This record gives sequence, C-alpha cells and structure tokens, in this order.
Amino acid sequence: MHTKSFYLETFGCQMNVVDSERIVDLLAGIGYQQIEEAEQADLVLLNTCAVRDKAVRKAYGHLGNFKPLKERNPALIVGMGGCIAQQEGKQLLQQFPYLDLVFGTHNVHRLPEMVQQVADSRVRCEETEFLDRETRLQLFPSRTGQEAFTRFVTIMQGCDNFCSYCVVPYVRGREISRPSGEILAEIRELAEQGVREITLIGQNVNSYGTKEEGELSFPELLEKVNNIDGVDRIRFTTSHPKDLSDELIHCFGRLEKLCKHLHLPVQCGSDNILKAMNRGYTRERYLEIVCRLQQVCPDIRLSTDIIVGFPGETEDDFAETMSLLEMVRYTEIYSFIYSPRRGTTAADMKDEFTAKVKQVHFNRMLELQQEISRQLWEADVGTVQEVLVEGESKLGEGQLFGRSTWNRIVNFSGPAELAGRLVSVNITKAFRNSLLGELVEH
Ligand code: SAH
Ligand code: SF4
Repeated sequence: MHTKSFYLETFGCQMNVVDSERIVDLLAGIGYQQIEEAEQADLVLLNTCAVRDKAVRKAYGHLGNFKPLKERNPALIVGMGGCIAQQEGKQLLQQFPYLDLVFGTHNVHRLPEMVQQVADSRVRCEETEFLDRETRLQLFPSRTGQEAFTRFVTIMQGCDNFCSYCVVPYVRGREISRPSGEILAEIRELAEQGVREITLIGQNVNSYGTKEEGELSFPELLEKVNNIDGVDRIRFTTSHPKDLSDELIHCFGRLEKLCKHLHLPVQCGSDNILKAMNRGYTRERYLEIVCRLQQVCPDIRLSTDIIVGFPGETEDDFAETMSLLEMVRYTEIYSFIYSPRRGTTAADMKDEFTAKVKQVHFNRMLELQQEISRQLWEADVGTVQEVLVEGESKLGEGQLFGRSTWNRIVNFSGPAELAGRLVSVNITKAFRNSLLGELVEH
C-alpha cells in the first residue's frame, strides 16, 4: 500500500507546538508520514496563531501558497487548524474554495476522521466546537516515543484572565488544569525514556489547580517534579505576575532542579496602562516580586513580554516602561506593537499614537534592550556554566550545543556521546543569540 504523506507548518506559541506534535502522532495512526516538502504531500496543514494581525496575515499568505499545489493536484487535502481556525470557523471554507478542512483548538483529536472523510468522499468539513471540561480532561495530549532530551508537558489549557488586548481566552476557551497524577506519570515515563529537561506549559501556569478541588498547587506540583529521578532540569511558562505566590518565589531558592530563569511578562511599566490592560497588578507590585525573586535566588535572570502602543498610552507611560526595563535588566524581551483583536475589549479603545510613533518607540526600546542584553551576556565571558547538552550543532562536526540554566544557547566542541548530559563549559565569547565556550570536564 502506498503510504500517504503530510506537510505541516506551525505558527505561534508552545501550545501550538504541542498540538502539532499530537497531530504528527495522530496522523501516523492513519498511515500518514510527515515530510518536509509541501509539493510532494497528499495532505498539507497549517496550525495557526491569531494573537497579532501579523501572525494572521502570515498564515493566510502561507495558505495562499497551497492554492497552486491544489490546482496541480486536485486530490491534495488542504487543512487549517489552531487559533485562526477557531476564531473564523466555517466561513474559512467559503473564503478559500481550495481549503478542505478546518479544525479548532479543542478538536485536534478529530483530525484523523476528518482527513479520512475528505479523502474518501471529498466532503469538506469544519469542527470548531468548544468541548466541555470533562471531555477536555480526557484529551490532554500525552506524548511518548519521540527522541529528545528536552520536552514540553502541558499542565493546563485555556485562560480566564481576559487581558483586554488578548484573543487567547476566546480561541482557547476556559482554563482547565490537568490532573497532577497524570502529569507526574507522564514525566516519570519521559524521564525513563531519557528526557532530562521538562518545561511545564500553560497560558498561566501559576494558577494551576486553583479551580479544581483537592488538586496540588503549582509550587506543590513543582516540588513533586523535582523529586522525579532522571529529571535534571525543570522550567515552566507562562507565569502571570498577579498569581506569582510567595510560595512559588521560594521554589527558586529551594528546588535544585528548577532553572534560574523566569519569563515574567510585564506588558507595560505604567499603572494606567496596566489597569486598562486588566492585568491585575501595579508597577510597584511587579517590582516587589522581582526584588523578592532576587533575594531568594540572587542569580535569577528574567525575560519578559512588552506591548508597545496600547490604546491610550502616552509619552509618560512609554517612559515608565523604558525605566522599568532599566531597573529590572531583563536578559531578553519579546516586544510587540499593539495589534487590535476583534472581540477583545481593547479593540474598541481609542488609539493615541500613529503607527509611525509606535514604530519609533518600538525601535528605541529595542535599542535600549539590546544594550542591556549585551552587557549581561558579555559579563558571562570567563564564567563556567552548567550546560545540558542537546546534541550536535549545525556549526560542524564535533560541535555540540546545549543550554545554560538561563536558557541561553551555548556552543562548544566535544564528543557526541555527551548529548543528554550536564557538563561544565567555560564561556569564551558572547554573541547576540548564543555563547561560545570550551568544555571543562565531563
Ligand atoms: N499567556 C501568555 C502569552 C500570551 S500571548 C501570557 O499571559 O503572557 C504572548 C504575548 O503576546 C503576550 O504576552 C503579549 O505581550 C503579546 N500579545 C497578546 N495580545 C497582543 C495584541 N493584541 N497585540 C500585541 N501583542 C499582543
Ligand atoms: Fe492572554 Fe492575559 Fe491570558 Fe496571557 S494571561 S493568555 S495575555 S488573556
């Protein structure tokens, strides 16, 4: 029998990355193998992101690339999933006559049947229903059988925060936490398979378990993961500052496997804008959290997300964000120009600045941050850092790469059998996106 093949492109956050891994597993179950060339595939899929207009336009652009493929090969099946699919639903089938199937964020598990339906009867289909809590709890992705030393483990889905700019609660649905017993069993299994670093993921991991009676709190869950043999490192993302408890802060001083890096999105440094964003904390409270983290774990490093040009933002507000960056000294920021999202409360708020001014602010912020990052990474030259070796790097034979506790890529030479091990590396040079070093011992 001719094995079928599929091509899959993934946009967006870790949730989509995990969903795409699940798609690969599910399609393998009906005899579809993943390939790298859309031109040769029997099925082409996009897993999309709707968080900003740029991501949406990009996805439509890539969808457009599939049109000539379909014209050449009418048997080709074209599908779209993820957050745009969730938001737009059935009308995508009208808008794009060459699109065969649309599946939402709660419907990934239905993909095999949908593909088979289109393959057998050429009936186009759409499934974007949100599922009830019980059904979703049954469907948490549990992934095994892929070779890697680092893995994401989903601990919760959805979001109840409704930050005024954000589409996520609308396209991912209400927040649910996966039972801790299942999470821990999956991590134990992964550790047995050789996975060394676990990243616990969810839109708002700090509120893990708060909606479920008798469930562990997030710090309790972390402690249990810390006790699993074979796991060397733990990370988690994303943290919401309003739910960052003192107990969680203390984990950074207490749990030896927890990496000393925290991504803590601040979004903005001004109280007026934080309020308009419905973020639930003030600048002062955020800075207090940072201070507490540094007390508990003096070498902790932080990264953040910033939105530039939120409606109503003034020059003073922007100056407050700049001064916050100087105070906290993040290793990295992910900054975005505000993009109105249909259905969110901020979409109707009046914008102060022109696109041009926002771009000027954005560039000034990048410039400031690049200098801060450069200073921080240059200070690493001459230090010895613990690196989890992930494998051979693209730089050439005998070159390995891994990450430091601060999630920074470190390149160095060494034997390939070090993959999966923690080694000490003496840092010799800092680049913008990585460090170079020499192996000290193994
Ligand atoms: N749950 C995570 C991630 C949300 S989306 C969190 O709470 O941090 C990732 C980032 O995209 C956000 O932190 C925010 O900085 C940015 N973002 C979300 N909506 C946006 C919008 N409408 N315009 C610009 N940036 C946005
Ligand atoms: Fe969006 Fe806010 Fe939820 Fe993050 S916490 S996903 S920014 S609504």
